[in-house]
Amino acid sequence: GERARLTALGALVETAGCRRRILLRHFGESDAPEICGNCDNCLNPPAAVDASVVAQKFLSAVFRTGMMFGVGYIESILLGASTERSLMNGHEKLSVFGIVEGEEAALIKPVARALLLRDALRANAHGGLEFGPAAKAIMKGEESLSLVLPPKRERKGRRGKAGGAANPVGEPLFEALRARRRELAMEAQVPPYVIFHDSVLRDMASEKPGSLDALGRISGIGSRKLEAYGDAFLQVIREAA
Ligand SMILES: [Zn+2]
Repeated sequence: GERARLTALGALVETAGCRRRILLRHFGESDAPEICGNCDNCLNPPAAVDASVVAQKFLSAVFRTGMMFGVGYIESILLGASTERSLMNGHEKLSVFGIVEGEEAALIKPVARALLLRDALRANAHGGLEFGPAAKAIMKGEESLSLVLPPKRERKGRRGKAGGAANPVGEPLFEALRARRRELAMEAQVPPYVIFHDSVLRDMASEKPGSLDALGRISGIGSRKLEAYGDAFLQVIREAA
């Protein structure tokens, strides 16, 4: 349902693959190219961890518990947390009980979100997880699953490395551009960065382009986005002038 879809979109943040490919695949376009060459993950591949083994363990636990439980329960099984429920269900005797430990534990929830996003898992009407069409290849190890490093570390690393400017706090034009981006993102039901990244908005705020041509010269604005969103952002810049 809608909730599962939004949860899955949230997982975009945690995936290391091409964001465009993931989005397109999510909306049913299965023949999207491996790499778009234009999203931030393609342009600047993030440090990723291979979470394929945890993904296999997760899918295995979903399968062995009968494809009727949610993320929380599967996680507790993988971690070997004994509960009345797991005892009653006889799940503590399964080979997957307590199979995840140490650092891998922190990967369970992001892996679950990534599996939903990849359509390897689907949430049924009762919140239980079932296999989707992409489950098999991951189970068999034919497809890998990478996650970017946990958000806190990732953010630090990025800021340090790229020398990325901090967002101008309280700069009215920048805030107005962000507000417009938020509206467009809500309209399209995508995360704001899918519209434009902060860096693009920063450049818009400092360069104040007055035409589509000038706007198109800002790095990170391709022709399709220029066409789709150019006028909306030019209007904000004009109004602020
Ligand atoms: Zn891409």
